[in-house]
Amino acid sequence: MNGIDSAFDRGHIWHPYTSISNPLPVYPVTGARGVHIELADGSTLIDGMSSWWAAIHGYNHPELNRAVREQLERMSHVMFGGFTHEPAVNLAKQLVAITPEPLDRVFFCDSGSVSVEVALKMAIQYWEGLLQPRKKKMLTVRSGYHGDTFGAMSVCDPETGMHGLFRGVLSEQYFAEAPRCGFRDSWREEYIEDLQMQLERHAENLAAVIIEPVVQGAGGMRFYSPHYLRRLRELCDRNGVLLIFDEIATGFGRTGKLFALEHAGVVPDILCVGKALTGGYMTLAATLTTAAVAETVCSGDAGVFMHGPTFMANPLACAVACASIRLLLGSGWQDAVSRIERQLESGLEPCRAYAGVADVRVLGAIGVVELERPVDMGSIQKQFVARGVWVRPFGRLVYLMPPFIIGEGDLGTLTSAVCDVVREFSAAF
Ligand SMILES: *Cc1c(COP(=O)(O)O)cnc(C)c1O
Repeated sequence: MNGIDSAFDRGHIWHPYTSISNPLPVYPVTGARGVHIELADGSTLIDGMSSWWAAIHGYNHPELNRAVREQLERMSHVMFGGFTHEPAVNLAKQLVAITPEPLDRVFFCDSGSVSVEVALKMAIQYWEGLLQPRKKKMLTVRSGYHGDTFGAMSVCDPETGMHGLFRGVLSEQYFAEAPRCGFRDSWREEYIEDLQMQLERHAENLAAVIIEPVVQGAGGMRFYSPHYLRRLRELCDRNGVLLIFDEIATGFGRTGKLFALEHAGVVPDILCVGKALTGGYMTLAATLTTAAVAETVCSGDAGVFMHGPTFMANPLACAVACASIRLLLGSGWQDAVSRIERQLESGLEPCRAYAGVADVRVLGAIGVVELERPVDMGSIQKQFVARGVWVRPFGRLVYLMPPFIIGEGDLGTLTSAVCDVVREFSAAF
């Protein structure tokens, strides 16, 4: 039985990055359980996307369901201005415990983009607090992605992002060359020369450097050497610039470490987390910082940090986030992610031989096949669905980031489907 009015959807509802007048097909979903997404026609798809990095425990998890249900019976929401509650306090405690010292001040946000806005505002208010109001600009690297709101857009890749379209409205920031050292490449100082030059040249106007540590996600699924981050930390310290890590995609185990910054052993001044924070149940993000930054932020003329969303620290979202973190830490996730990593490596290996494939790379539970040309999303999506898998490529990238609970058989089906579809793409190359 399909009670979903797809015709109404087609005529009236925007989906992410789609045209309302010429929409691509969307598949009506009636349920999801474990790593399986159930469609209205009765078929099921094996999930290769974790609903954009988020559903690390799969769908409909009994423990996460219980956390939401129990919190729902107590209180689904209450304003966070003037009130506090157990789910928020418990979640803040967990976040402080699992992130490195001295990150121990927590601001709850309603989405990843907002946590980036909050991070940028913290950096600006920090320098205001130190009576250095000229330091308001951001420096970042190309091929980054930090979200779709205005501040976040201003630090996304200027070409694949929306800089042309919103020129004159977006803040103008500084961009350095994207890191070009692969994850395992031995370090050469030239890899960071461009960034170093810009950092030194613009230091008096710079509030912060913002970067996705180790993995650049939606801006190109690029992996780079952790040593880059160690050098970046030194350069920021030497030039008096704050360092912001956006771990919205990489956080909670995806790269094989609980946070990607652990690959480098580097601690930023400000850290953004989101996506897998609630195990994919609800929208929630957080921005963490140090006591020193937080106190300086609040020492300026404003006297407070100037942000406070209506649904800040929503209790349902905080409760499920607490349960998701507990579940993750108790799940032996390191073994799961290394098992997925090994299977992605062997399963995607055949793609290397196909014409039109530029690169195949794997890190943690992320497997990427980079093509030489962009795919046609509409037709490639259909081919994956016909094979019973949910894989959603963008541009030249076909990639997998399955829930950590995926079994060997289902993951094998995913990697075979990617190989088959890429081979067909390659035959037409
Ligand atoms: C998804 C993402 C964001 C934006 O998060 P939303 O919840 O979509 O607003 C920001 N930064 C990175 C690295 C992301 O992957």
